[in-house]
Amino acid sequence: MYGYAGHMLKVDLSRGKTKIEPLEKELASLYIGGKGFGAKILYDQMRPRIDPYDPESLLVFATGPVNGLPLSGAAKLCAVFKSPLTEIWGESQCGGFFAPHLKFAGYDAMILYGRSEKPVYITIDDKEIEIRDATHLWGKDSYETEDIIKRDHDEKFQVLSIGPAGENLVRFACINHNKGRQFGRAGGGAVMGSKNLKAIAVRGSGTIEVARPDEFDNFKKELNDRIKERLKSLTEYGTPAIMAATNSTGTLPTRYWTEGEFEGFEEINAEAMKRKLVKRNKACYACAVACGKISKVERGPYAGTEVEGPEYETLFALGSLCGNANLESIAKANEICDRLGLDTISAGNVIAFAMECYEQGILTQKDTEGIELNFGNHEAIITMLKKIAYREGLGAILAEGVRKAAKLIGKGSEKFAVHVKGLEPPGYDPRGLKGVALAYAVSCRGACHVRHMAYRPNLTGSHPFTQEKIDRLSYERQAEIVKELEDFHAIVDSMVLCKFVCLPTVGPILWDELARLYSIVTGIETGKKELLTIAGRINNLVRAFNIREGVGRKDDTLPQRFFNEGLKRGASKGEVVDREKFEKMLDEYYTLRSWTKEGKPVLQ
Ligand code: SF4
Repeated sequence: MYGYAGHMLKVDLSRGKTKIEPLEKELASLYIGGKGFGAKILYDQMRPRIDPYDPESLLVFATGPVNGLPLSGAAKLCAVFKSPLTEIWGESQCGGFFAPHLKFAGYDAMILYGRSEKPVYITIDDKEIEIRDATHLWGKDSYETEDIIKRDHDEKFQVLSIGPAGENLVRFACINHNKGRQFGRAGGGAVMGSKNLKAIAVRGSGTIEVARPDEFDNFKKELNDRIKERLKSLTEYGTPAIMAATNSTGTLPTRYWTEGEFEGFEEINAEAMKRKLVKRNKACYACAVACGKISKVERGPYAGTEVEGPEYETLFALGSLCGNANLESIAKANEICDRLGLDTISAGNVIAFAMECYEQGILTQKDTEGIELNFGNHEAIITMLKKIAYREGLGAILAEGVRKAAKLIGKGSEKFAVHVKGLEPPGYDPRGLKGVALAYAVSCRGACHVRHMAYRPNLTGSHPFTQEKIDRLSYERQAEIVKELEDFHAIVDSMVLCKFVCLPTVGPILWDELARLYSIVTGIETGKKELLTIAGRINNLVRAFNIREGVGRKDDTLPQRFFNEGLKRGASKGEVVDREKFEKMLDEYYTLRSWTKEGKPVLQ
């Protein structure tokens, strides 16, 4: 099969056994790869309502047909699992170099299950697979773990690892790679920790064949030319460039979702990063965009900090959301999250939530062990991150994520706890972006920005595929746009391509190019219509998985704050999400998906 390595690797951590199976042709043609493979495997093989930490809970890493090819944006790997944070579908993507090497070693996917009695790590060296003792790695941070594994084996090994947060089952622990890339969201790191699996290292020596090599070379060249034309800002500034758009539209989440504009914007925006921190760009495997930024703090209390980032999502979560305008402290907080293995979005949200509790007197200095947890206290943020990762004091409560922490803290804090289905939102306030309101509510992993990227058409005012005008404050047409974006991204996540080369409104890869690329690589002729059928199959199966876990219309909603409290500052001042109009959007969305009024798909 062109584009595929041809095998799946299964690892039973309870018995210490591995098994290599051929990739089924039907699975590849019906589900493509990545998210599609994950959906089919989790739905068919995972016991309904299983505890995410049960040894039989699955952790799947899956590639798609483009991974391993020398193509911009083809470096991503998809992880799927049942999330310990949301207890529904968990999914995350990570760039870097692991996915190409997994394919070069001969595997399209890895399915991990069971629980080792003692800490272990896995090495995959083409067909040689070993489960090794990781006692010496347990307790180490992810940078140290990666260094030790490379030193003990070979620099060419690509490593996925967890930090202490994953070992300590922090519900939003991430999986790290290449000192700066993460499977950030939904707690995959805690699932690895529950299996006593510290790391996976892979080195491959094979190659991946495409069906039409000459056409592939042309596609690659065209893509790189368009990247130079259309993604200049991403190469120059990286994702922090988004902050100018959110701040000016009054949708930059500030002081725990109460304001939409941050007075410290100029201290933490893309220009400030470029001026104060960024030393050079960094690229994933074969990518011409090179959107990663290597930053270094040279002066002041955080001197010596070195980190890839901060990305926009980190700048908002550990910056404006916490009322923190100290850029160097955000870089430090980012480094701590990466080393200890915390998702920066959830970490920032849970700390900002605790800050609001503290300012309202719900938490006191007795609860915080003397820490003044006011908005803007960057030293407190740094301290709390460590307490969360090691589950110390209040950190043990915050390590549960906002939904569970609010239940444990009580005293009315549940009323302002901001999450959807247990997942804390990224940096786009839905009160000023009505399409994002619907997208957060229906997204398969909770309040997510990348299953649809609905923030882009709403922020740019342009339809993602037709360039028609879109009003970010209107509820009209948002259901249709969210549905098409979710379908588009189901294919992107199954191929598994980077979203930054498939950006709604600018591409360069949109529907036509996506279909062309799939055909060139696999040799199977396809078009938008066929891809939409596959996307519908994948999205329905993921929804069916969530329905089986208890999700229904009651869960496709937003936190009370977004319905009841107007934004206090910025260009979206006074905006709320209107309940009636929201329910109408939801009905429209269900109708477009051919789901019942209760949001249930009718599986074929
Ligand atoms: S655009 Fe950025 S994140 Fe995406 S593959 Fe390229 S370097 Fe990696």
